[in-house]
Amino acid sequence: MSNLLVTDIGCLVTNERSIDGTPLGIIHDAAFSVTDGKISWVGSRSEVKVSEHKNVVSAKGKTVIPGFVDSHNHLVFAGDRAAEFSARMQGQPYAAGGINYTVEQTRSASDEELRANVAALVAEGLTSGTTTVEIKSGYGLSVADELRSLEIAREFTEETTFLGAHVVPTEFKSAPEDYVAMVCGPMLEAVAPLAKWIDVFCDRGAFTPAQTRQILKAGIAKGLLPRLHANQLEPGEGIKVGVELGAASVDHISHFDDSDIAALANSKTVATFLPGAEFSTRSEYPDARPMFAAGINVAIASDCNPGTSYTTNLPLMIALAVREMFFTPEQALWSATKGGALALRRKDVGHLSVGAKADFSILSSTSYLHLAYRPGVNLIEQVWRNGNQIS
Ligand SMILES: [Zn+2]
Repeated sequence: MSNLLVTDIGCLVTNERSIDGTPLGIIHDAAFSVTDGKISWVGSRSEVKVSEHKNVVSAKGKTVIPGFVDSHNHLVFAGDRAAEFSARMQGQPYAAGGINYTVEQTRSASDEELRANVAALVAEGLTSGTTTVEIKSGYGLSVADELRSLEIAREFTEETTFLGAHVVPTEFKSAPEDYVAMVCGPMLEAVAPLAKWIDVFCDRGAFTPAQTRQILKAGIAKGLLPRLHANQLEPGEGIKVGVELGAASVDHISHFDDSDIAALANSKTVATFLPGAEFSTRSEYPDARPMFAAGINVAIASDCNPGTSYTTNLPLMIALAVREMFFTPEQALWSATKGGALALRRKDVGHLSVGAKADFSILSSTSYLHLAYRPGVNLIEQVWRNGNQIS
């Protein structure tokens, strides 16, 4: 007997292509059952015997989607940068340097303050349908503060990322190579047991492609898996470095050309777009269509951070991806669920087929199209994780 039956689903998005031949794998008038936190059966409502289930939830004809998998976030920090945002909206350009302000604030914050901030942001994401979240360090930038950031991140997710190479901290400005040596040496040594991933901000004002290779290789040697921030501020080698080192994902990718597309198309690396960063820095949005045309797996994530995308809201990212980056609504929804799961190399989330975690949202609308069509409106009526309602 299953623990839960969800029925009367007007439109169920499974992300199981074999169901209807489309990436979203849609079943109309659907139902599914959950046993021990996992999907144990998926099918048509007409096949269901309600009396065989202990707990029955009616979706009342609405849409059910997989929980969002938000694969790129910087949640361990203190303070905010509202003034910087305001200045930017009045014409000041974005440079990577503002990160050092958050580093100062983070270093002087207590563990309790940092933990409470992460908890609030994770809870905020949950209410908008995010059931799996990746969290990076990167505002500590000392051995002790990076370690503390990852310890706190670990309390909230198994998807923890060491981003000691976010920027060169102020005290190493005149000796960046010394900082790179510290990241690859004692810092990596300290944090390796707490991090699944290693990440580098490979861009103007942050780290060079050569430094990026050095840092990612050091992490790989310690058993961490690579991913990176690439080609946000200008064209460069970041995407190709990521592909070369087998990164699970290259993120931002605001600038890319045909050679970058060719590199990605011949790899398993996911192309992750972060439309909140373009929004918040008033930068030109990239056009994602060539990525889809080349058959590359695409993700979208919120990039929640206090400098350049202070939001946890994936429905807003879906709306921006559709409106500004030329995703279809279907591509955007898939990218925020299955695409995010691929970017984290996860098979158990981002879809609703038998064996997957029962992480899903019930929308207040009868169509997933409303996620893009009704921007800024909260359409996430219920959020369930592991078969338990949490919002
Ligand atoms: Zn980022």
